Amino acid sequence: MDFTLDPAIDDVRRRVRRFVDDRLIPLEADRANYDEHENVREDVLSAMRSQARAEGLWALQMPKARGGGGLSFVGMAACYEEMNRSIFGPATFNSAAPDDGTMMVLERVGTDAQQERWLRPIVDGKVRSAFAMTEPHPGGGSDPAMIRTTAERRGDKWVVHGHKWFITGAAAASHFLLIARTSDDARKGHTAFMYHRDQPGSRLLRRIPIMGPEEHGGHGEPSSRVSRSPTGIACSASATASRSRRSGSAPHG
Ligand SMILES: Cc1cc2nc3c(=O)[nH]c(=O)nc-3n(C[C@H](O)[C@H](O)[C@H](O)COP(=O)(O)OP(=O)(O)OC[C@H]3O[C@@H](n4cnc5c(N)ncnc54)[C@H](O)[C@@H]3O)c2cc1C
Repeated sequence: MDFTLDPAIDDVRRRVRRFVDDRLIPLEADRANYDEHENVREDVLSAMRSQARAEGLWALQMPKARGGGGLSFVGMAACYEEMNRSIFGPATFNSAAPDDGTMMVLERVGTDAQQERWLRPIVDGKVRSAFAMTEPHPGGGSDPAMIRTTAERRGDKWVVHGHKWFITGAAAASHFLLIARTSDDARKGHTAFMYHRDQPGSRLLRRIPIMGPEEHGGHGEPSSRVSRSPTGIACSASATASRSRRSGSAPHG
């Protein structure tokens, strides 16, 4: 098998490597550059992000038309490996979890209006996001068929009842991608919703401590007891999602 990288991908990989070596790893040596959760201080991060963006090393996993680097999965693998040589790396290049996953989902299945509202601000580095799937026992963990959070349609609104935990970045996220049960079909009964942290009924119960450095926003326990989602559904799970988008039948959000 030939593992040689395409020269264009290898060029980006080398530039990411140089950036990490020259600018991020030296920052790690000074405790003053860390926040209270052992990650890079926000103002230091902001300065590094500006430099990465100016040099075209920004949101490499997103299409160029959206302001990203247009990398394939192979390119992402090569560049993410380089970024992760520094704990400050992924956030600097706007490729950190959970934002990278949220961006990729919305890019793939969101409608144009959903992408404009929920995706663009994340790509532009103006807001952070969180992915809310896992629930306390006996709710869903690695088996999504166990998810207990429900979403019910009432008129032109969706009402979400649920309790999640270990949600990375929850204390710093504005845009939440939440998985809820919308029917009792164990395989097709889930729907992904976007909601804003300021939406009525959305609360962060606590920040759950973990061992070692934390992502920005930590790992939170959000509750959405009566979270109205006036803008509706972001995308339906799996096959239904792409069908909805192509047919234009997904409600706009
Ligand atoms: C640092 C950290 C960050 C996290 N960030 C996020 C986040 O951003 N968003 C989010 O939604 N979650 C997040 N999580 C939660 C994480 O995704 C879950 O912990 C993980 O999915 C496993 O679920 P669980 O811990 O409930 O284990 P369980 O689901 O209880 O699984 C325990 C074991 O049982 C097995 N098992 C489970 N169900 C079945 C079944 N039906 N049949 C057979 N075997 C089964 C599993 O394979 C596993 O070995 C985070 C967790 C941590 C620790």
